[in-house]
Amino acid sequence: MKFKEILIEESLWGNPLYRNRVKKILEHPIFLQTPFHFIPNYRLVFDALYRPYLLKQKEKTLRLILAQKKGMVVKEAPENYGAVKEEGVVAPHFYITNGLNCVYECEYCFLQGHFSNPDLVLFLNYEEMRDQLESKTRPYGHRAWCHLGEYTDSLALSHLTEEIFFWHETAKQYPKIEWELRTKSANVSSLLSLPPLENFFCTFSLSPESAIKIYDRKTPSLKSRLGAIKKLLHHGHKVGIHFDPVIWSPNWKKEYEELFYSLFNLGPPEKFSYFSLGVVRFTQKDFDKTHQHYPDSSLFAMEFVSCEDGKKKYPYFLRREMLSFLSNCLENLGVNSSQWYVSMEEEVLLKKNNEVANVFI
Ligand code: SF4
Repeated sequence: MKFKEILIEESLWGNPLYRNRVKKILEHPIFLQTPFHFIPNYRLVFDALYRPYLLKQKEKTLRLILAQKKGMVVKEAPENYGAVKEEGVVAPHFYITNGLNCVYECEYCFLQGHFSNPDLVLFLNYEEMRDQLESKTRPYGHRAWCHLGEYTDSLALSHLTEEIFFWHETAKQYPKIEWELRTKSANVSSLLSLPPLENFFCTFSLSPESAIKIYDRKTPSLKSRLGAIKKLLHHGHKVGIHFDPVIWSPNWKKEYEELFYSLFNLGPPEKFSYFSLGVVRFTQKDFDKTHQHYPDSSLFAMEFVSCEDGKKKYPYFLRREMLSFLSNCLENLGVNSSQWYVSMEEEVLLKKNNEVANVFI
């Protein structure tokens, strides 16, 4: 991805540690021709003016902003959002806001309704993020789950920021915190230079190739992502898989069966740390934005209904059928019931499959 210019928050330049990080990014070969300017505060640029998410000629107008995240950097994740470690016990789950916006452009991405500016922001004050997480997890004896990549892809730009090295080192210092890097990227070169850790997971969102081609705009192909997963597994890293969002298509059952077979060709289910299943869902605002940006998208081939949690989702019977089919497939292929969970669904759909089978009848 090309940027028109790089904007640097002055406070970063004033701190020798952060200044070094900025310099390393500026010295990267892809940025040698990119002009840069200093700004007093990223919010004056990022929040100041509405700019369409799907900018025309995005490559020529997009800016990279390097900034220091102030205020709440570490937040508690919503319920039913992360991995269940033991039956019925969910570790306190936090996420770190390490960046805003993404180099990819998935049609269903909530970022298009979340921000009013498509510029990419990278926060470089990792030490402050770590310190906030330290104080938030202290009451739990530093036992927690923490993911990166809530508002951006965790790995797509990891070769520029070298952030991964910082979090890997932090994971060694806090072995009871489980770290998760969420990605659709195949950019695993930094990870391959690091030794595996018991509490350091890289998780990939996977969909059938046809869905990736239609909806996951500008992302690496399924083949590239599977290639990256293979390398990480071979290296001994912990890998998790998010089958999320699951989007209906006329052949969705067959496509997911093929996807599962391709994945387990890389290694048996026990080689993977965990799996999540999540059927496509939107807030009303994101639903409206997506509709506005992609009015002809086949995303809207199926009906969406308003649910009690305020989200727009497929009707209950369809979500139930999809989750039931997919979880059955996973278990038939040897995935242990403690290895998978359902993301952001109603209570009855969160239960394990054989438990809800009776409810479904
Ligand atoms: S990879 Fe994730 S954050 Fe990036 S555009 Fe796709 S859904 Fe959004």
